[in-house]
Amino acid sequence: MNILIIGSGGRESAFAWKIAQSKQTAQLYIAPGNAGTGRYGQNVPLKVTDFEGIADFVLSKQINMVLVGPEEPLVKGIHDYFLERADLQHIPVIGPQLEGAQLEGSKDFAKQFMVRHGIPTAASQSFDRSTLAEGLAYLETQKLPIVLKADGLAAGKGVLICATLDEAKAELKAMLEDAKFGEASSKVVIEEYLTGIELSVFVLTDGDSYKVLPSAKDYKRVGEGDTGLNTGGMGSVSPVPFADNLFMDKVEQRIIVPTIEGLKKDGIPYKGFIFIGLMNVDGNPYVIEYNVRMGDPETESVLPRIESDLVDLLQGVAEGNLFERSFMLSPKTAATVVLVAGGYPGTYESGKAINNIENVKDSIVFHAGTREENGIVQTAGGRVLAVTALEDTLFGALQQATADAGRIYFEGKYFRKDIGFDLI
Ligand code: AMP
Repeated sequence: MNILIIGSGGRESAFAWKIAQSKQTAQLYIAPGNAGTGRYGQNVPLKVTDFEGIADFVLSKQINMVLVGPEEPLVKGIHDYFLERADLQHIPVIGPQLEGAQLEGSKDFAKQFMVRHGIPTAASQSFDRSTLAEGLAYLETQKLPIVLKADGLAAGKGVLICATLDEAKAELKAMLEDAKFGEASSKVVIEEYLTGIELSVFVLTDGDSYKVLPSAKDYKRVGEGDTGLNTGGMGSVSPVPFADNLFMDKVEQRIIVPTIEGLKKDGIPYKGFIFIGLMNVDGNPYVIEYNVRMGDPETESVLPRIESDLVDLLQGVAEGNLFERSFMLSPKTAATVVLVAGGYPGTYESGKAINNIENVKDSIVFHAGTREENGIVQTAGGRVLAVTALEDTLFGALQQATADAGRIYFEGKYFRKDIGFDLI
């Protein structure tokens, strides 16, 4: 098979690494990819939202499957674009169509979906500009802290946790009246604050059957001890020690099954990954959010633990017979440490030469924000590399990944040395 991966981050590097191992892969392309993905396949200089350019490439290279990494092309309708073009219809796209992508594209849509199908989530109500007064009155009836969420995609910044009523009212006004997050906050979900530990659960589905992929926990704050600004993710581990069989059984029965059945009842076709952000509240799972793709840097910890052929599983998704496909997981633990450019998530410099990657022997180095110029691999983004170790124990994996993160050098390099140690 000829396969095209859309995207350029650490997640897509992990997909490329795994897909390149399949005997079924003939040619692998990554659009646009990064300096690392070029080792597993061929990079193609196309933007992830250039659907026409992608279509021309797919036809010219006889691509048999397109795997979409990030949310943006999905929420903009890449799958629908393929289905609407007679010359592309036969080429499977892994990732939902527009309606399914609304699970991530609109928090209000996701909330209504969960309520309709009895999926446990925080109590909430949605307001728009015309109901601002009702929203302010609603806030007065709620406990503190309270969570305000911009309805649309806001680059991971649209969620505010407000400690006081005054703050919540001011933020609601700023979001609805002053378009604090642009069009994304033209509607706001006001949501009960849940106290617990977060984790991510990933599901692969053909719209009918599903496989529960390894669970993972990610670390969003830039500073050690989970302090400082939020980032795209500074590290991850898989599995999550507190997600034991009893807990995962609850997740499957209360959340995964009703989600898949709910999509079917609503007539929403869905072929792809579902990333469920969960809060473990006293041993009971509640959905914090749905994403319609894999997480980054969770993918870097999840894929090394899948022993089965990913291309075979993706074919199962495409053909609607996922339930027949072999699905084996490694009992080992994966830990991922992300190397970022100094200053990230604020301003940072790019174009710094990266050295000593070849010194890493016992971890996998997934590239994220990197590019190659004149044979030199350089930094080209905030999150630069993800270093993943797979070991028998959590402690072993954390030690290995952290040690190997230290072996790589670029000017301004920073990484957290405490990823996962709270779980030991
Ligand atoms: P989201 O973009 O929905 O994942 O929200 C971003 C982050 O806000 C989550 O990862 C949580 O840490 C936090 N958060 C979201 N909703 C809630 C909630 N209802 N209660 C407590 N924390 C929340």
